[in-house]
Amino acid sequence: MAVELHDLGKRYDGGAGPVTALDGVTTRFAEGTFTAVMGPSGSGKSTLLHCAAGLEAPTSGTVTIAGTRLGDLGETALTRLRRDRVGFVFQDFNLVSSLTAAQNVALPLRLAGRRADDELVRAALAEVGLADRVGHRPRELSGGQQQRVAIARALFTRPAVLFADEPTGALDNRTSHQVLDLLRGLVDRHGRTIVMVTHDPVAAAVADRVVLLVDGRITDELTGADAATV
Ligand code: ADP
Ligand code: ADP
Repeated sequence: MAVELHDLGKRYDGGAGPVTALDGVTTRFAEGTFTAVMGPSGSGKSTLLHCAAGLEAPTSGTVTIAGTRLGDLGETALTRLRRDRVGFVFQDFNLVSSLTAAQNVALPLRLAGRRADDELVRAALAEVGLADRVGHRPRELSGGQQQRVAIARALFTRPAVLFADEPTGALDNRTSHQVLDLLRGLVDRHGRTIVMVTHDPVAAAVADRVVLLVDGRITDELTGADAATV
């Protein structure tokens, strides 16, 4: 299901005066596609991702996820949409260190007061190649494996879209490749929709489409293959 951003604006009123983080962003992340968002530090990439995922409210413009305009939702409906329709992956994994891989995957559902079926949790970890790491805690896993647990957790509610903010930023080259291969496979084999912020052209090269952000505006669009040569 597609995610659409229309004329999105975001202004922060910081101590040093107002900052325009997003300045009229219009784009569409089509179902079953992999988009990378690139741009200099401070160009608004994280703000774009947070607004598109409903984690932050834009100052102007609209975000539509699978036909639902986020601005039309009340707080309860928005919380539910964030939980059920959106997956989010962070640079530093955000796993709970005292919980096993399986417990981490099940956590968002448990926090929502629902039961997570053990077989489904196993299947989610198998989907990211960690069928044999179900009972391991984060410190017993490599960085790449931890990120794959985080991806399994983010996908567990079958969200319409997976947002990833520098998912390979804390990984070495080899484990980055494992995570990027996994993300690519989720799009190719499972028809997932992924939007990934990255400053790494090698990471962006696995995307179908690369959106370039400068000063809160989209200034260019490339294919992933072109991004690798920039
Ligand atoms: P990027 O992810 O491309 O580095 P960000 O989206 O983090 O860019 O930030 C875009 C701009 O908005 C920057 O100038 C940043 O300083 C500013 N900004 C981001 N978050 C806040 C905030 N919570 N309060 C004030 N300014 C912010
Ligand atoms: P953080 O590292 O931000 O402190 P936690 O380690 O507490 O986050 O939680 C890790 C993950 O557990 C979150 O990314 C989220 O998926 C899930 N989670 C945490 N708190 C909640 C909550 N109140 N509702 C739903 N999911 C939650």
